[in-house]
Amino acid sequence: MNRTASHRAVFLDRDGTIMEDSSYFGDLDRVVLIPGAAAALKTLQDAGYRLFVITNQSGVGRGYFSREAVEAIHAHLDEYFAKAGVRFDRYYVCPHHPEDNCECRKPKPKFLLDAAREYGLDLSRCFMVGDRESDIQAGINAGTRTILVLTGAGRDTLAKQAVKPDVAAEDIHAAATWILTHAS
Ligand SMILES: [Mg+2]
Ligand SMILES: [Zn+2]
Repeated sequence: MNRTASHRAVFLDRDGTIMEDSSYFGDLDRVVLIPGAAAALKTLQDAGYRLFVITNQSGVGRGYFSREAVEAIHAHLDEYFAKAGVRFDRYYVCPHHPEDNCECRKPKPKFLLDAAREYGLDLSRCFMVGDRESDIQAGINAGTRTILVLTGAGRDTLAKQAVKPDVAAEDIHAAATWILTHAS
């Protein structure tokens, strides 16, 4: 197997992980980045990790905001992170209502598996970072290592003990540090 760095990726939840969880408003004014996120992602990218955002946006399916509003937030994130030299390879968005029982909503691993196929990733050398049980479970389901961040809903998730991440990290910056010291 080719073990070059480009076969590795970090899958990132969006709300509560790289930006504050703005609930269902889909409003650009509510986009507040988690402090240190850009610097953290830059270190991962520089170490050869591809970066993917994997996000459940059921607010679309619930009719709270449009798919276009989601795209606008992602354009805004691209602009913000580009200033730090960070580029996301792709955003994978599940717009469905939970009751749709779609194939793409975390904890289902579809988007991670799609990315692995398309970008030639070795999932055992990838990481899923998120603040909810569904993030950790999606990573487990895909065969990545998993990091629970304690921003967003992370502390509640940790307290529930319903899933067991490889590690809990204070925030995305601490998660990046852990990844870089536990890379394989
Ligand atoms: Mg989240
Ligand atoms: Zn979906």
